[in-house]
Amino acid sequence: MENINWEKIRDEAIEKLVGYIRINTSNPPGNEIEGARYLKSFFDKEDIEAKIFESAPKRGNLKAILKGDGSSPPIILLNHIDVVPVEREKWDVDPFEGKIIDGYIYGRGTIDMKSMAIAELMAMLILKRTNISLKRDIIFLATAGEETGGELGAKWMLDKDPSLLEAAMVFNEGGGIVVKENGEISHYEISLAQKEVFQFTLKAYGTSGHASMPHSDNPNVKLVKALNRLVSWETPFNIIPIVKEFFANIGKNMSDEEKPNYMDIEKGLKDVSFRKKITKNLVYNAMLRNTISLTVLSAGTKVNVIPSEASAEIDCRLIPGTDRDRWIKTIKEIIDDESIEFKAGMQSTKGIISPADGEGYKAIYEIAQKMDPGAVVTPFLSVGATDSRYFREKGIPCYDFEPLKLTLKEALLIHGNNERVSVENLGFASRFMYEVVKKVATS
Ligand SMILES: [Zn+2]
Repeated sequence: MENINWEKIRDEAIEKLVGYIRINTSNPPGNEIEGARYLKSFFDKEDIEAKIFESAPKRGNLKAILKGDGSSPPIILLNHIDVVPVEREKWDVDPFEGKIIDGYIYGRGTIDMKSMAIAELMAMLILKRTNISLKRDIIFLATAGEETGGELGAKWMLDKDPSLLEAAMVFNEGGGIVVKENGEISHYEISLAQKEVFQFTLKAYGTSGHASMPHSDNPNVKLVKALNRLVSWETPFNIIPIVKEFFANIGKNMSDEEKPNYMDIEKGLKDVSFRKKITKNLVYNAMLRNTISLTVLSAGTKVNVIPSEASAEIDCRLIPGTDRDRWIKTIKEIIDDESIEFKAGMQSTKGIISPADGEGYKAIYEIAQKMDPGAVVTPFLSVGATDSRYFREKGIPCYDFEPLKLTLKEALLIHGNNERVSVENLGFASRFMYEVVKKVATS
């Protein structure tokens, strides 16, 4: 084992994270250039090649490369510089101060995802300092605009810098280490895919008039009736192999009574009380089926006027591989009103699933066993979207895993108030990233 003082590494990571939290990269406006400059300073200090790419004024992306001998293709350590905005008055502390209270670093971005960026940075710095010979280039890629779709970050970088396409794999946020409320580790989950975005608008037309004389051609009424049918529809389960495997894996930690239901989730879901319990968990529910969220309603401007049109915007998240033509056909059947106009909106490309037997997955698995012997490690389907989709589209496998041990309560602080991460977690994450990167870059 190399001579690494992990306590010192942890303290260095804390200092770097606190500094990073102090740079307000709330998106909008992002101002990621400041974050990119901050991270670049550490690479510069230790003679690691690093360059900033500005995709729009003040929207900075950073690429740093630790050179290997080139006998294997590069790997990418991906992270995003921007964070979501804060409701400042709802925080107990300044979200951009990086205050440490009772072993926790508070601040916007501590979980999503400045801690992982610092862990990736530390992994690069340790590899450089210990002078380990590498078979691959290790690319640290910090991007802009992830929280608003990645157009100025990951997507832009892939368009501008074709050398990124040579990468054999990407490590990014997505999964993590799930801890039970009693502090025991439940499992490590590595996200290999994400659901597909499919949005559409429904529009009803009718005859305007005075509210004092109601008639049967009121677009609001037509739309509300159609929407009622749509939101009352329980979408069918569609269980893909990685989801089946996920439930079978987490089932290992369940009581003897519940185990069989998890081990064979399709069978388990036929049990009414189990189905109720599982679908109450919003993440599990979304992993098992296509979901429909009614998000925007627009109709009418004055209480005594019947308008001539009304519209609703709907956000669906589809299980990878869903046939979209069939989905649209089914939606129209459920709405069951041909007078209502259906207009497709934003759609993501087809969801691609990275391989669970890939080198990156295996490396995370092995390091998990080393750090937490006997840990359950499982593939996972992300219900939200990350920058990984741009890399998967280009055929590059992505292993979405943030090595932070979080209880459900802590994980829910992502994008929330008083977001925080324990200093222990940051130390662990730095070591974990180092071990994983060393594994794939030397063996
Ligand atoms: Zn994120």
